[in-house]
Amino acid sequence: MDAVVYSPIHPHVRFGVEFELILVAGSAWNHGDIASALTQAGVPCKFLGYSKVTIAQWKIVTDSSIKARIGELPFELVSPILTGESGLEDVIKCMKVLEQCGVRANNSTGCHVHIDSKFLSLKELKNVVSNFCTFEGAFDAVLHEGRCGVNNEYAQSNRQAFRAMSNKQRYHAIMNACSRSSMSDLCNPQRDRYFKPNLQRLFTYNGTLEFRHSNGISDHQTAEAWIRLIIQFCETSRVNEPVSYSVINENCSVEDEIAGLLNFMKSNHGLVDFISRNIIVTSFPWKCTTCLRRFATSRQLMQHRENHPT
Ligand SMILES: [Zn+2]
Repeated sequence: MDAVVYSPIHPHVRFGVEFELILVAGSAWNHGDIASALTQAGVPCKFLGYSKVTIAQWKIVTDSSIKARIGELPFELVSPILTGESGLEDVIKCMKVLEQCGVRANNSTGCHVHIDSKFLSLKELKNVVSNFCTFEGAFDAVLHEGRCGVNNEYAQSNRQAFRAMSNKQRYHAIMNACSRSSMSDLCNPQRDRYFKPNLQRLFTYNGTLEFRHSNGISDHQTAEAWIRLIIQFCETSRVNEPVSYSVINENCSVEDEIAGLLNFMKSNHGLVDFISRNIIVTSFPWKCTTCLRRFATSRQLMQHRENHPT
């Protein structure tokens, strides 16, 4: 197989990651052993038990939101602030160790990527969020079905937050937002943090734009590709004008959205390859969680939801 060629991450980019995972039943390892193994591999890590404390190195904490079977040990691996390519190299080192320990992901696990928002202007933030809404269906297409459309209560659809607005109306609503706070009210109503991009963390000490979208990831190749995709999507969105509502309108199919995202990321061959290889296209991906009826587009689902028969 040819080596995957990614465009390098700009050295100024700061980010962080959280992996929710499970140590398989019967493993000879425990939480403390994993932390020691990561430290020995050159990535200093501490096991803190249940803790929300921020530390300057990698940490392993327990996580009661993960549903594990008897004998399995759920945990969360949380990075410190990482920078550029060297930060991603640390992630890859960690994941290679975890592969050897025998970890897996299940439907209750996720992988969250945080992008430092301190250097994002309001305009740049609008570009990222608007573009994500434009391509939400294409991002869905490379993830497990449980993370797609409106299927996941912990990673809700940002398009859904705009209800039955057209793409043009949504685009203007985002572009007319006068502050980070009004952006967040639009994209994460009721200050709910459980959205694919979560804007609530913009207002915390470390100020990040959190992408909660992905299902749990337990191998280093997928981790590398997904993190690169989020970082480069943000960078490409930041330095260009936002994708116009006329490019991907609300009647476009998922295939149209995927073609649009591939074109948007076209200079990054490794990511184009990753997206192309992992697409699982469903013709009617937007499923009503009440009656399970499926729709081709998000707007059709939202219109159905607004007049839902009780
Ligand atoms: Zn329904």
